[in-house]
Amino acid sequence: MLVLDGKEVSNQVRSSLVPRIAAFKTKNGRAPHLAVIIVGEDAASQVYVRNKKASCEKIGMTSTIHALRTDTTQEELTEMIQTLNNDADVDGILVQFPLPKHLSSDEVLKTVSPLKDADGLTYSSLGYFFAGSPLVKPCTPQGVMTILKHYNINVEGMNAVVVGRSNIVGKPMAMLLSEANATVTICHSKTKNLSQFTRNADLVVVAAGKAQLLGKEDFKKDAIVVDVGMHGSGQGGKLCGDVRFSELQGWAKAATPVPGGVGPMTITTLLENTCLLAEKRANS
Ligand code: NAP
Repeated sequence: MLVLDGKEVSNQVRSSLVPRIAAFKTKNGRAPHLAVIIVGEDAASQVYVRNKKASCEKIGMTSTIHALRTDTTQEELTEMIQTLNNDADVDGILVQFPLPKHLSSDEVLKTVSPLKDADGLTYSSLGYFFAGSPLVKPCTPQGVMTILKHYNINVEGMNAVVVGRSNIVGKPMAMLLSEANATVTICHSKTKNLSQFTRNADLVVVAAGKAQLLGKEDFKKDAIVVDVGMHGSGQGGKLCGDVRFSELQGWAKAATPVPGGVGPMTITTLLENTCLLAEKRANS
């Protein structure tokens, strides 16, 4: 079985961004800039935003973390986003979720300008994307497409199943696979006999958010399996995915591990999107 090494692909994509960022800097007198907003004290979120800033800086981009108090009001958050929307030196904006309970993520998704939406997940961005005219594509599903491309896996004509239909992963994943000419079925929590669908598929992307939901018996021989799931609840508290990866050896044709599969590509695509948005605005 071919292990689809997301870390390796991620390293290659990041290296390819370095000269692009240097060229942008020479032309525009500054590096592409990602602004990250975090509200409150959630420990995991603090780690995620620090990682994003460090990842930007490692490849020559700049990043600012705007840390807002837990009791920030919706109006204050909207005002912060609008200030960044209007700041000519900011290319990408990312609001770290989850937000404290009194704040609406819907409002955030309506406020970030699509010209600066590095995640590609705001309502406007998804509208452009589903209309076939994306500014950038949602990070996680686009990261999956980058992995498949890296390993010369051409999905055209494949029978593909996506397990999950969230706006963040499932729906845009199905759209990207369909654009690449796969025939796509979307399964979800109300799908009857999930296995009947996954067992027929050449390619299965699993994003159900259920630890170790699927194993060998759920895939046909020589299937390609992409596991988007991420859980800290595997054996011995280890990170695991929605798929029982160890069962796939000698059965699947190719599969992504967890960790080291789709995960590393999400931040990398965020960096790629920020660079792309900077280039697009500078050239417009
Ligand atoms: P989500 O919003 O909870 O959506 C889960 C989807 O899976 C829903 O559409 C749900 O169906 C479906 N589902 C749940 N249980 C199912 C089952 N037993 N059989 C079939 N479908 C089922 O989750 P998400 O945000 O899309 O994330 C999915 C997973 O990916 C999570 O583990 C998350 O941590 C991970 N993730 C990883 C990355 C990364 O960078 N690797 C990025 C984003 C997310 P209904 O619509 O019917 O409820």
